[in-house]
Amino acid sequence: MNQGLSAQSSGSRGRAAAKPRLPLTEESVTALKGVGPRVAERLERLGVTTVGDLLCLLPVRYEDRTQIRPIGSLAPGEKVLVQGRIELVEVVFRRRRSMLCRVADGTGGLTLRFFHFSRAQQENLSRGARISCFGEVRLGPTGLEMVHPEYSFVGSDEDVLSDRLTPVYPTTEGLYQQRLRGLVEQALSRLETAPLDDYVQPLLPHGWPTLDTALRLLHGPPRDVDKESLLNRHHPGQLRLAIEELVAQRLSLLQVGKDRDIEHARALTIEPDLLASFREHLGFQLTGAQNRAVGEVLEDLAVTRPMHRLLQGDVGSGKTVVAASAALVAAAAGSQTAVMVPTELLAEQHLRNFKAWLEPFGFGVTCLTSSITAAARRQVYSALETGRASVAVGTHALFQQDVRFASLGLVIVDEQHRFGVHQRLALMLKGQAKRTVPHQLVMTATPIPRTLAMTAYADLDCSIIDELPPGRQPVKTVVMRESRRPELVQRVEAHCRAGQQAYWVCPLIEESETLDSQAAEQLHEDLQGALPDLRIGLLHGRLRPADKDDVMRRFKDGGLDLLVATTVIEVGVDVPNATLMVIESAERLGLAQLHQLRGRVGRGQAASSCVLLYKPPLSGVARERLGVMRETTDGFKVAQKDLELRGPGEVLGTRQTGLMQLKIADLVRNADLLPMVIDISDAFLTQKPADVDALVRRWNSGQMRYARV
Ligand code: ADP
Ligand code: MG
Repeated sequence: MNQGLSAQSSGSRGRAAAKPRLPLTEESVTALKGVGPRVAERLERLGVTTVGDLLCLLPVRYEDRTQIRPIGSLAPGEKVLVQGRIELVEVVFRRRRSMLCRVADGTGGLTLRFFHFSRAQQENLSRGARISCFGEVRLGPTGLEMVHPEYSFVGSDEDVLSDRLTPVYPTTEGLYQQRLRGLVEQALSRLETAPLDDYVQPLLPHGWPTLDTALRLLHGPPRDVDKESLLNRHHPGQLRLAIEELVAQRLSLLQVGKDRDIEHARALTIEPDLLASFREHLGFQLTGAQNRAVGEVLEDLAVTRPMHRLLQGDVGSGKTVVAASAALVAAAAGSQTAVMVPTELLAEQHLRNFKAWLEPFGFGVTCLTSSITAAARRQVYSALETGRASVAVGTHALFQQDVRFASLGLVIVDEQHRFGVHQRLALMLKGQAKRTVPHQLVMTATPIPRTLAMTAYADLDCSIIDELPPGRQPVKTVVMRESRRPELVQRVEAHCRAGQQAYWVCPLIEESETLDSQAAEQLHEDLQGALPDLRIGLLHGRLRPADKDDVMRRFKDGGLDLLVATTVIEVGVDVPNATLMVIESAERLGLAQLHQLRGRVGRGQAASSCVLLYKPPLSGVARERLGVMRETTDGFKVAQKDLELRGPGEVLGTRQTGLMQLKIADLVRNADLLPMVIDISDAFLTQKPADVDALVRRWNSGQMRYARV
């Protein structure tokens, strides 16, 4: 475990007397040399405001400049340091003007290619000079090449090689690697005289590096470090920091949970007759799991300790009606409910359901999204302020400053894939400085393992709907090459002719709504051309909300046979007669997303199927993912596989989407650490209660950033 963790030179120990006033975790970065307001502002963009934050800014990767590679041994794709003599420099005009510089070291030759170069550069790179270059090797028109390598001239024989890997940091405009490296080095040298308080170390099993050692190692790993584990973020140094961060995270959430003990909500109860009559009007019987969940929610609502409950259930398991039951209780008790959803589409769908379920009992339901007209908004505001409306469904618009509720008693957050919003919500609600707070119900279709839930939702109680409504048949999933599209088009036609409906989900081009929408328009046009007799609708993120609503309503009412859509339909959309789904470029989507999308079919009594179209060749992981989709429809199994299959890149992606604001740890990648994190947190609470605050503060600047979003 202790691979190469030997301490660096401990140069300035002698000056221990000149101890800094503040721990590094609270000292501003501006205390470092060279950090003025401009640099500080750029650092802040990276989430760095204290010296401690800077120490926690871990490299995204490393470059190996610890050895000079013989040119003859290079393969395309490698990033390497080479050294050689310049044999030839020429400027060529092929497609673009470029300067080529031929370098050889006795084992082979390599061409450096520059598209941008100055006259001075051209003159400096003279024949016979020895240079060392660092860059990525590619196969170019002249054989092995490096495009725009970093280079420097070397003296006759002294080769100063780094004995550590060179860190590459996440950076931002105007802040260069070199600069960042220098700043981190300064911060590291401060560690020598002001080591961080290592709160967690005594609670760890034997063999883990200390906090300081882990930080030093990660900012400059020795050349013999296990690079593979570093790259996969499984290195003990990385895990050590992840553990500490997760412990801090859990402690802070437990703190939030504790705060609830001193908060009060209105106790909400309902006449049993009213509840019974609500159930009779549903048109179906609740499943055992739904009944259990409703029971748990009702119990929470009936007391003044605010409910903080997570309702977990696979796609299609029927969470909405559980939420509606809670809203009914609130309404019957004279309180209002806010139902927050991530998309307007979902808001509109919930509006329809809640209206159908609650209005017969005299409870008004309204909807607030950011796109309604000013006049409509005023009406909604007034309905909420006067208490005329018992339920408001909506997007984030629901929680704007100027929305006032007569008596908000319950907040429901639906389809919360992104952990963390409930915390943000808690903060917003706190900000209202009311004497009572609303009860909260958070719903998610992302099945997550227990330990993960215990960490991500440490402040929530959990209800699980682990049963689908009766009569559902598992969706049959097939994987199909894109070249079989014509055949598929025929199949869709036959399907729709038989009176059923279908979705055709467009390729995800990138995280750009415009491009995705254009792709959808193109596909819509192509399909309409191929299938002139079908009524084909189009749904994408750039449509006006009214148009979206219209398309969706027509599809739901059977006025459209086929709906071409971008992944906007991923979340929560419910049309039971749609029983076929085609997903384009399925190889590019993650398992969780594929599962969510597929959850749009198989919602009625009829058998459903899902066709995953892909473009060969498939990568190994993509092949496995599609295989998982074909073999199981069980959300928990899919989630488990998802954990196993995620590569570092993808996981990094989830981190950036804000799956809880963690700097180093990743709840998914580090899932196997969670049982230990839970144990350590519990021990921390009993053994070091006085240090909880300091540890939480050390790690929470990210949380605060999140809260401000
Ligand atoms: P999700 O959990 O994915 O949000 P929904 O609440 O949208 O699922 O429910 C999916 C569909 O199942 C809806 O059409 C809903 O009316 C229906 N449904 C819910 N509960 C039952 C039940 N117990 N029996 C039959 N259908 C149900
Ligand atoms: Mg739902």
